[in-house]
Parts: sequence; C-alpha cells; structure tokens
Amino acid sequence: MLKLTDQRWQAIQSNDVTQDGQFYYGVTSTGIFCRPSCHSRLPKRDHLRLFSTVSAAMQAGFRPCKRCRPTGELVSTDEWVHEINQIIATHYQAPLDLTRLAQLAHGAPYYLHHVYQQVTGQTPMAHLKQVRLAQAKKLLQTTHLSIGDIATACGFQSAAYFSTVFKQAFQQRPSAFR
Ligand SMILES: [Zn+2]
Repeated sequence: MLKLTDQRWQAIQSNDVTQDGQFYYGVTSTGIFCRPSCHSRLPKRDHLRLFSTVSAAMQAGFRPCKRCRPTGELVSTDEWVHEINQIIATHYQAPLDLTRLAQLAHGAPYYLHHVYQQVTGQTPMAHLKQVRLAQAKKLLQTTHLSIGDIATACGFQSAAYFSTVFKQAFQQRPSAFR
C-alpha cells in the first residue's frame, strides 16, 4: 500500500490527470477504487487507501469505479443501468434526487442521466417516479394506510405533492382511485 502524502491527496482533490497511472485510490466507505483524476465525489481523507497498481487494489477487495474505469475496461452501460434500477428499487422510499442517485451509483449526475436515457428511453427520475407511483397504487389497493402515510412510504415529500403527482399520472386523486 502506498502512503497518502499531501501531494497525492492534493492530486485527488484537484482530479490531477497527470497522476493517472501513478497510483490508484480505494475508498473504504464504498469499496470502490479510482484514478486520481476521477470526478466522483471527494472522499474523506481517512477513508482512502492508496495502491500503486490496479491488481493491488483489486486484491485488497476494491471494485473498479464505473466512472473513471481504472482497469481500462469498458463497463457495459446495460450493466450500469441494471445497477441503477436496483438502487432505485431499494431506495425509492428515501429522498432520492439525481445527485444522490449518482453518488450511490458512483457516477456523475449528468453522465448517469445521459446514459440511462440513452439505454432505456426514459430519464432515471421518470423511472423513480414510476416505481413510487406503482408502489403507492399497491398500498392504496391493499392497505388502509392514510394518504399521508402512503406518501411517506413511497418517498413523496408530502401528501399534497403525492396527490399532485398521482393526479398528473392517472387523472384522479389517490383517494378517488382507492
Ligand atoms: Zn472513479
């Protein structure tokens, strides 16, 4: 393992392309490793482990970042979209926006949006809304939860917002649908 010198920390902070290939950094909180130039969110300094080679990073259990692709391999966009869908399926109850989704999927927001739309024909936020609405419909039909509770359970910020989005999608209010 390489020492995290101030110079290397500086290179990571400034996404220094000239340091690519000189070292790789793994982030213990995510299990992902990157090139110095990677534009993913700046990790905390004490979460960093530095390696001189890709294989050393992988042997230490880190997976290559999908954004900066330290192994040089192209990760298929289908595979990435699949991963994004998994994240949406498991996090739709949380306040998830594009920035947060991109953090969880280890990409940049704009790039994620672009790739996702190219592969699926819809935006990731549109898909998230679909997942939330489908879940809300299910809860409306199968439970006696209040509209407010359903809104919360499905990741909508408020009952009013939930009603608005629901009406836009299905031309009726949640209570009428029920
Ligand atoms: Zn990276």
